[in-house]
Amino acid sequence: MRRSLAPSQVAKRKQGADSSEDEDWHPETVQKRRKGEAEIRENYISPFRKPLTQLTNRLVCLDGTKHEAFIRSILSKPFKIPIPNYSGSLGIRALGLKRAGVRKALHDPFEEGALVLYEPPALGAHDLIKAEKEKLPVHVVVDPVLGKVLRPHQREGVKFLWDCVTGRRIGDSFGCIMADEMGLGKTLQCIALMWTLLRQSPDAKPEIDKAIVVSPSSLVRNWSNEVGKWLGNRIQPLAIDGGSKEEIDRKLENFMAQHGLRVPSPILIISYETFRLHTNVLHKGKVGLVICDEGHRLKNSDNQTYLALNTMNAQRRVLISGTPIQNDLLEYFSLVHFVNAGILGTAQEFKKRFEVPILKGRDADASDEDRQCGEEKLKELIGIVNRCLIRRTSDILSKYLPVKIEQVVFCRLTPLQTELYKQFLKQAKPAEELQKGKISMSSLSSITTLKKLCNHPALVYDKCMEREEGFEGALELFPTGYSTKAVEPQLSGKMLVLDYILAMTRSTTSDKVVLVSNYTQTLDLFEKLCRSRRYLYVRLDGTMSIKKRAKIVERFNCLSNPEFIFMLSSKAGGCGLNLIGANRLVMFDPDWNPANDEQAMARVWRDGQKKTCYIYRLLSTGTIEEKILQRQAHKKALSSCVVDEEQDVERHFSLEELKELFTLTEDTASDTHNRFRCRRCVNGRQVRPPPEDSDCTSDLSQWHHCADKRGLKDAVLQSSWDAAVSFVFHQRSHEDQRGVV
Ligand SMILES: [Zn+2]
Repeated sequence: MRRSLAPSQVAKRKQGADSSEDEDWHPETVQKRRKGEAEIRENYISPFRKPLTQLTNRLVCLDGTKHEAFIRSILSKPFKIPIPNYSGSLGIRALGLKRAGVRKALHDPFEEGALVLYEPPALGAHDLIKAEKEKLPVHVVVDPVLGKVLRPHQREGVKFLWDCVTGRRIGDSFGCIMADEMGLGKTLQCIALMWTLLRQSPDAKPEIDKAIVVSPSSLVRNWSNEVGKWLGNRIQPLAIDGGSKEEIDRKLENFMAQHGLRVPSPILIISYETFRLHTNVLHKGKVGLVICDEGHRLKNSDNQTYLALNTMNAQRRVLISGTPIQNDLLEYFSLVHFVNAGILGTAQEFKKRFEVPILKGRDADASDEDRQCGEEKLKELIGIVNRCLIRRTSDILSKYLPVKIEQVVFCRLTPLQTELYKQFLKQAKPAEELQKGKISMSSLSSITTLKKLCNHPALVYDKCMEREEGFEGALELFPTGYSTKAVEPQLSGKMLVLDYILAMTRSTTSDKVVLVSNYTQTLDLFEKLCRSRRYLYVRLDGTMSIKKRAKIVERFNCLSNPEFIFMLSSKAGGCGLNLIGANRLVMFDPDWNPANDEQAMARVWRDGQKKTCYIYRLLSTGTIEEKILQRQAHKKALSSCVVDEEQDVERHFSLEELKELFTLTEDTASDTHNRFRCRRCVNGRQVRPPPEDSDCTSDLSQWHHCADKRGLKDAVLQSSWDAAVSFVFHQRSHEDQRGVV
């Protein structure tokens, strides 16, 4: 208890003339003087004390006893064992004085979110007194600049790398293989490792003074940019991408000659080719760490690059490889031997211990015993390799993304589309030829025609005008006075549904939409639709320069900009585009190759997306588009360019399959669902939900089946149902575990 609040003191105070004033007395002067030690004061303040009130023109009480009591109470603060080896930032340091005593970590290990790679063993008060303070180990904490941006799997990765290269995972081994899949940030994890090693160690000094990154020449610039991006001007990497032999030699000599605590340019980034050509210089000294990007180049331990790198004086080695190591034993050996020579023995030992028994066990006429022995050896080998290899697949990324709701939307053809479709099938050559058992080139162009008709009759209007094969007399089917100038969404089932989806999104949400189609003509229709509805849009054009592209993408992604729709041709190379400004994506026509649809979805459902994503895959019910979907489901992926370039028809379709393509299934809500012979649906209603663990990657039979709008999760699609929807499959990417979006 504070002395001034003790009954005796209070009583004394009451005798004073101005006691009411006195009650609120605060040692303001003292407090000011001791601002730097606010933290210490925190600890002694009585919980009964009244909250501080503002002191204005009051007299400052300079009662000596109270002041003394106050100081004493500070000084009598009970002794606490400090956090091992860490002193806060309150210490007063005089310039030019070398401080003896406890060393401290470079970064605060107790800060929120700190990534601690090494924690010194806790010492009791007694040990602490005995210990030689200047030799106590300190925390190793990843620079918060990087620690703050690392995601959970990357934190784990950096810790793994650090444990490996400091010999903490496998005694006397200082290497590892980083084999994360694309997109998980291998480069960033390696930069965090390098930066930590270059500045810290438990010994309170840098673990290494220099590091080399060896990469394919095309990635040298990229590495240099990445270092700049994450570390800013904290470090100047030396990136060598060109120059005369003498010039490069000179730069490398200078690099190798650097030693000590603060090397000015401690990171060298160099291509495999240049490394090999200048091996003699690089072999002159010692390097703390070498990182080999695209390290599967080193799978052959006989080649020159391998030898040049392997004979370098660099104990700590990290090999980066995005492609999984093939099940090739020699490749295993080469890569692991490079990073951790010895853990698999010499080449001869490896052969005897692993290769021979494993291959023997795989032999067709191996005995059961051999087979079992082979399997055990393989397990043992994998066990050893996994101690120095880390590989995560990009699946883990989805855990950090918001939920994606994927919906396959079956849209009824309009009467006009149905009539045109039926007439085409009756008249066109392929059908006739197929009946005769012939496959011809015209089959493929007919596929394209039908797909276009599914998109909108306007896309075949020209053919009707010219009375092309399959469209003779078709012109009469169009409404009188029809012109392709206006968009007329009511003539196409899918276009009607799209029109609803866009209108509902526009009026009930603040979301933006990406529209994808295989056909530029369809994108032209979208433009017309947008103009008539006054939606602002941008359209990506294959002829745009990269710079212009980047500009419109950036503009679109900014939520405060009014562009509502981004149009994309799946052929214009949407690959790599980041359109996270949108969280709804409509795929207007299905692609033969499911990978292309995946690519399209990845434009919005990717790193940085904050909202729930809705994907709409539109299909015309009962048509060729359903067959494409069914084929996708069978994973018989076709390269879409093969089909769309109208090549090689007989290689991809059997006669039976082609015949099927050229049929129209009428009177169905979903031909695809009919084919499942689904047991979860009774009388067109889903009575049993899909299994708990099913998600977007499950087979469509394991998705939600909706023959009416009641079962839908997406309010926008729900209110678009009546436009022309006949059936919907929907599924989610994962359970939303975060609770907040
Ligand atoms: Zn069903």
